[in-house]
Amino acid sequence: MNYFDNEKGWIECICGPMFSGKTEELLKRIKRMEYSKKKYMVFKPKIDSRYSINEIVSHNQKKVPAITISHGSDIKRHLKSDTQAIVIDEVQFCDKSLVKYLKELADCGYRVIVAGLDRDFRGEPFGVTGDVMAVSDIVTKLTAVCACCGRDATLTQRIIDGVPAYYDDPQVVIGDEDKYEPRCRNCHIVLKDE
Ligand code: ADP
Ligand code: MG
Ligand code: ZN
Repeated sequence: MNYFDNEKGWIECICGPMFSGKTEELLKRIKRMEYSKKKYMVFKPKIDSRYSINEIVSHNQKKVPAITISHGSDIKRHLKSDTQAIVIDEVQFCDKSLVKYLKELADCGYRVIVAGLDRDFRGEPFGVTGDVMAVSDIVTKLTAVCACCGRDATLTQRIIDGVPAYYDDPQVVIGDEDKYEPRCRNCHIVLKDE
């Protein structure tokens, strides 16, 4: 791993519900790194195959190539000698060991930028994201626009053929506009079995 002038790096976390602009924000930060000639590498966990397995793609179809990883330790193996920043999208699908690796990378001088869902369709903490937020130096929590009432949406509603999901449904159901919409706390519904 690289050490840049003995200066440590830091961890930035971008979170929020689906459609809140997390991937767009990542792409914006990537563009700024391009302008400042910083060398970065982009990663995504294996599970997210919504649009493409080797790109991260925003809902308005902006994209950038990404390396698919199945474990946090894969990041180190892929790093090039001149890499200065590490970008990861859909971090909620990474395994819990990721936190350890992110801390290590920041301590070694890398800028680490991570985005992911903070909460699942139930409104509960999603995978490793909460732990990543805790170890991050800067956390940006984004909102979308509630698909029902237009308030700021902080939650993701799973709704399939007009029916809201049940609490006991699986946490991970890969989908997009067909299954999910952003909602505010007032409009968010989780059905419970009797
Ligand atoms: P995320 O990565 O958080 O899911 P993206 O960056 O992929 O979000 O997409 C954000 C884009 O989604 C917005 O710029 C907008 O074009 C689109 N969008 C669609 N529906 C909504 C909504 N209800 N609220 C906000 N943005 C929305
Ligand atoms: Mg996204
Ligand atoms: Zn609402």
